[in-house]
Amino acid sequence: MAEQRRDQRGERDAREGGQGVPEGWGRGVSAEEAQAWEALVATARRTVADGLVVGTSGNVSVRVGDTVLVTPSGLPYDRLTPDDVTGVDLDGRQVLGTLVPTSELPMHLAVYRTTDARAVVHTHAVHATAVSTLVPELPAIHYMAGALGGPVRVAPYAAYGTDELAENMLHALADRTACLLQNHGTTAYGTTLDQAYDRTAQLEWMCRLWLTASSVPGLSPTLLSPEQLAEAGEKLRGYGQRR
Ligand code: 13P
Ligand code: ZN
Repeated sequence: MAEQRRDQRGERDAREGGQGVPEGWGRGVSAEEAQAWEALVATARRTVADGLVVGTSGNVSVRVGDTVLVTPSGLPYDRLTPDDVTGVDLDGRQVLGTLVPTSELPMHLAVYRTTDARAVVHTHAVHATAVSTLVPELPAIHYMAGALGGPVRVAPYAAYGTDELAENMLHALADRTACLLQNHGTTAYGTTLDQAYDRTAQLEWMCRLWLTASSVPGLSPTLLSPEQLAEAGEKLRGYGQRR
């Protein structure tokens, strides 16, 4: 598909007198980028299928070298095709495609500039967003917070798509791989799309758990100590199959 696309561009360049890539088209898509785009679209669709997002809310990105592929702004994920590939450089300049990139570009790029992230997932998951309106930090209700680096913070509110929101998010993400955005949603990152997605789903599950446990009249949930969370975080590093 990518090869075919490049060939078509080559033909177009030739038609335009070999003047290079016409303005607005950016450069060609590499095989690695084409593969990453497929995975990005699958992840974005999964956020909708799993109820973490409604309509065109949320956005997903994945880094390939110094290019960041992102979901285009305001487009339903089920309509995205290989031709819709959208990519920017780390300064936000568009290098692939012509669709307008997600409005949360400042947030995604801030994560890539300051961490080893290879993928970022942003959602408006309902329990997580509810928690973001109630507390400045998700109480340590479950040891899985250790998998996200510790108690999950809530970034103070700022309008969507702003540098201010990106900055608030970065503070909330210090030593964490996920955070809540007040009255807005979640942001999580990872070294793969699957990891960023799984962290998002775990965060949403923990928020649901805390809301459930804290809604029993007359009782309040037992919380874990920082030492217990740190111990879990350490142990989780060796969790699962040896590779
Ligand atoms: P985009 O459609 O521009 O990605 O915006 C959705 C969103 O979640 C904004 O915070
Ligand atoms: Zn959002």
